[in-house]
Amino acid sequence: MTDEPSPFAPLLDLQRIDIALTQLHHRLDHLPERAALAEVEAQLVAHRAALAALEDDQRGVMADHKRAEDDLATLEAKIKSEERRLYGGTVKAAKELQAIEDELVSLRHRQSDFEDQILGLLDQLEPLDARAESLARDGAELEARHQAATVALAEVEAEVSAELAQVEAERAAFVAAASAEHVALYERLRRNVSGNAVALLSAGSCTGCHLALPSAEVARLKRLDPDEPAYCEECGALLVR
Ligand SMILES: [Zn+2]
Repeated sequence: MTDEPSPFAPLLDLQRIDIALTQLHHRLDHLPERAALAEVEAQLVAHRAALAALEDDQRGVMADHKRAEDDLATLEAKIKSEERRLYGGTVKAAKELQAIEDELVSLRHRQSDFEDQILGLLDQLEPLDARAESLARDGAELEARHQAATVALAEVEAEVSAELAQVEAERAAFVAAASAEHVALYERLRRNVSGNAVALLSAGSCTGCHLALPSAEVARLKRLDPDEPAYCEECGALLVR
């Protein structure tokens, strides 16, 4: 091995920059803040569905309540009219008066049933109203958490994106200063080699795949012109020697 730095050595730095870029892209794609926001969004969707179902229930009970109130009002009007007939003096026949009294007993019975029904519906509304209040509190809390999660994601995205832009600028400057031929060789290897495109040959071993090269191969590489590229037979990485 020569004491002169290998002409391919800068490619190790380029590879380090690319690994950093890959890690930053991976980080940006897998931000826990994005998962946290998605979680809150899912909770908001469930909350909206629960609220809509509750409002349906409330509307149903209120419609029943309205119908019972209307029926009661009709019945009460009927009772008043029967009472007017009973006490008005126009009906005189005892049999007819008895019939009106019997009718009034029946009507008052139905009035009492409607009143019970209305109270029962009000009882049904009470827990629904309490649930609506509880859902409103949950909703406010969820909205606040959604807002916070949105801000947290935007902040970390901006942070990682700035870091990415910085490393990308670093790479562009590096490539501009490097040998175009070597960069092209590196790019080709990056596409075709599954592991590292470039690896250091250290003490007879490839640092890409950690395998020791046969001593005859090490001896051959030592005699090779430093500008001549050589590759690890095992992993295909360009060896920096
Ligand atoms: Zn190797």
